[in-house]
Amino acid sequence: MAAEPANSTLSQNPEAIVGPFTDIVQRTTGIIAANTPNDLHWDRLLIMLFLALAIFVIYNGHGAKAADGGERKTGLLQFLLPRDIYTHVSARVDVWLWVLERVLRPFWFVGLFATVGPTTEQTVISSLEFVFGATPAFESAFSWMLLYSLFSLLCYDFMFFSFHYTMHKVPALWAIHKIHHTAEVLTPLTRTREHFLAGPIWATGSAFAFGVAAGLFAYLFNGGITQATLFNVSFFSFLFGLTGAFRHYHIEFRYPRWLSVWIQSPAMHHVHHSYLQKHWDTNMAAVTSIFDRLFGTLYIPEKNEHTPWGIGPDTQDQYRSFWQNTIGPFRDWYRMLSRGQSPQAGAVPTPTEEARES
Ligand SMILES: [Zn+2]
Ligand SMILES: [Zn+2]
Repeated sequence: MAAEPANSTLSQNPEAIVGPFTDIVQRTTGIIAANTPNDLHWDRLLIMLFLALAIFVIYNGHGAKAADGGERKTGLLQFLLPRDIYTHVSARVDVWLWVLERVLRPFWFVGLFATVGPTTEQTVISSLEFVFGATPAFESAFSWMLLYSLFSLLCYDFMFFSFHYTMHKVPALWAIHKIHHTAEVLTPLTRTREHFLAGPIWATGSAFAFGVAAGLFAYLFNGGITQATLFNVSFFSFLFGLTGAFRHYHIEFRYPRWLSVWIQSPAMHHVHHSYLQKHWDTNMAAVTSIFDRLFGTLYIPEKNEHTPWGIGPDTQDQYRSFWQNTIGPFRDWYRMLSRGQSPQAGAVPTPTEEARES
């Protein structure tokens, strides 16, 4: 992963602004693979365990949820690694879906992330040059790097919110995303529990969001913000890795209300996975609470709020095995088409509605 000199790509055409995204991709794809959001880095898992231990001590054994989504008091081992959760069939399916995701990731990841990102970035740069003329070539400073990181985070979070919201509301897409919600227990691997068709959708969205931010800042700084991108990508890798892992952990890690209205706490994602009607379609964003607040989908749970996970008793038994989860979307689409319905926008098929219809 040794990086070549930063100006190696510029030497081919000194006139062209090369955005940080393109620069990184051109230098080596390995650096991207090493810095993308990944929840299984040992350092993140260690931080997660440390926080879990702190919660165990502070709440005297309270604060962890059982497989049924209810809070209970336990001993330390059961608190950190509850038997009913880690021996659950849903946790086993998480493992197989994770394996499949790892096998398929290089195909869509390199194919989409490395093409959509740079294309978006270069399009943004060209559009800005067309509208505003040549780059103002500002001097990059640390405060600008922070602003760039924050802007990227908001772009990413807005993309995540809008893609996620759409996948909940459009039945044909819900058929794909539902596989994330068929998890009956939450483990750190539930983060990557997705149908294999969801990977390209998320990769396209992420690449587009980061490409927009990178293009804007590359224009403002004449491409001289590459260092910030590296900082930025590592920063995200860490933040998403931690929140991604912890929000799919059974321990209720809450923030005070004043912070929850700005940043999603892991406990708020427990709510997102609940099949109780009052919890449906809430807390859709990845990092901040800003877009959920703006669009009225924010739900801050009470302490120890019951969050039974999965899609509900009516249809859950259709989504227990790896195989059922893999063919699930195709079966749903077939049902939609054979009913004469076109798979288009409408109310999200709820567990009860689906049960009524089938
Ligand atoms: Zn969801
Ligand atoms: Zn989730």
